Amino acid sequence: MVHDARGWWIAEAGPPPLLPALAGDVDADVVVIGGGYTGLWSAWHVLEAAPDARVVVLEADRCGFGPSGRNGGFVQSMTFSLPALRRQYGSPAAEELAAASEESVRAIGDWCAEQDVDAWYRPAPHLIVSAAPAHDGLGVAAVDGERVVALNGEQVRARCASPLFREGVEVKVGATVQPARLAFGLRERLRERGVRIFERSRVGALEGAMARTHGGRVRAGAAIVAAGAAAAAMPPLRDRITVSSSHIVLTEPVPDVVEALGWVGGEAISDGRTLLHYLRTTPDGRIAFGWAGGRMGVGARTGGRMEVDPEVVAQTRADLVRYFPALAGRAIEHAWGGPIDVSPTHLPHVLSLPGGRAHAALGYTGNGVGPSHLAGRALAALALGRRDGPAALAIVGAAPRRVPPEPLRVTGAALIRRALVAKEQAEQSGRRPGAVVRALAALPGRIGLHIVR
Ligand SMILES: Cc1cc2nc3c(=O)[nH]c(=O)nc-3n(C[C@H](O)[C@H](O)[C@H](O)COP(=O)(O)OP(=O)(O)OC[C@H]3O[C@@H](n4cnc5c(N)ncnc54)[C@H](O)[C@@H]3O)c2cc1C
Repeated sequence: MVHDARGWWIAEAGPPPLLPALAGDVDADVVVIGGGYTGLWSAWHVLEAAPDARVVVLEADRCGFGPSGRNGGFVQSMTFSLPALRRQYGSPAAEELAAASEESVRAIGDWCAEQDVDAWYRPAPHLIVSAAPAHDGLGVAAVDGERVVALNGEQVRARCASPLFREGVEVKVGATVQPARLAFGLRERLRERGVRIFERSRVGALEGAMARTHGGRVRAGAAIVAAGAAAAAMPPLRDRITVSSSHIVLTEPVPDVVEALGWVGGEAISDGRTLLHYLRTTPDGRIAFGWAGGRMGVGARTGGRMEVDPEVVAQTRADLVRYFPALAGRAIEHAWGGPIDVSPTHLPHVLSLPGGRAHAALGYTGNGVGPSHLAGRALAALALGRRDGPAALAIVGAAPRRVPPEPLRVTGAALIRRALVAKEQAEQSGRRPGAVVRALAALPGRIGLHIVR
């Protein structure tokens, strides 16, 4: 097995050649900080609205080498979160948001087709399944019989015959992609449209809309901060997110197993845990199996065990075989992880920084592939001075609960994570978790500190 910090998707896609770093001063209308999906979609939407705008992207590493190029590739809407969205924003705003997020799922597919980017976009429903009695009934609040439908055990197992699957719900609008191909495709199409992209160009300071790297400055009319989990190190955004990690193991091609499971519809599947498992197939018959049970990041540190944590990988691998016993003797070829920007509401938000010339999106909480397209629309509108349309969506400008300061954030969150792991392992094997574990696992909701999902 290759423990590969970058992940298999990036290798499969074949990363494009590195672009030169920023050297000297450049003027722009919009400077984008971060070349993941949020930054790249923002740049795209700026050009859609203002084709002559001068757009510069500054990327600390290489575009798509962060979580955007190594995630599970689930392209999800926010429809399953409608009950939470209604509580947070009220019904009309929640409905508008869910509809816009579904539109983004489709728009990503349309974009790939129009732009001739082969990102393996495949419309695929998202099944949220119960794999333990404690998780039965999860998701029923979201069932509307149309966009989200309930499935009994037989129906779930007809889609994917894991012996653990008990029941579930199906979210109709969704898709899967090869995430790195999408990120690299975006990067290339932006360059073709004249966007100047500088790689290995970490922004160390942002003053208004002027971004400074070690090699130069970009003086812009507006800035878009799309730095993912690294936002946790940026003072105005520091108390908006905690950083956790998620890991994926990838099998060798096992088309025989996929076939025997009847898992032939390309469904994206996740389970009902808080530290959830997520699983999908690939066109060459592999199974990618993820677990959001990684450790908490200290500060904004996103390397090291955030990217490859052997203990988390070993647990993920063991869980994979529990879900699919037929994989017992089969090779796991790759394993990797990455940081997750977790917001207190588990919903992404878009906000303007003090001064009003810079705008940021963060807090996707492990669900940014679809929503980053929508957040990118909102960020582009804000950067162009608009306050209507996508800039008026409920996730924009909302003041989410803040996370507790460090060191409480990290020590508290690490304790809670351990409790959640213990609780969910006990539930999985049909045991009742102990009282201390239950109390700790219930804490996040009470103190506004959420771990994942
Ligand atoms: C293992 C894993 C599995 C996941 N699975 C899924 C999934 O299946 N579906 C889903 O919807 N979501 C998933 N996610 C989450 C998803 O990948 C993210 O929500 C999404 O990629 C966020 O995109 P982004 O552009 O906001 O952030 P990122 O992809 O993190 O991009 C931010 C970029 O900013 C750069 N940067 C940081 N600081 C600076 C700076 N100072 N100057 C310049 N550049 C900077 C970084 O190098 C990085 O390239 C997963 C994440 C992980 C780690």
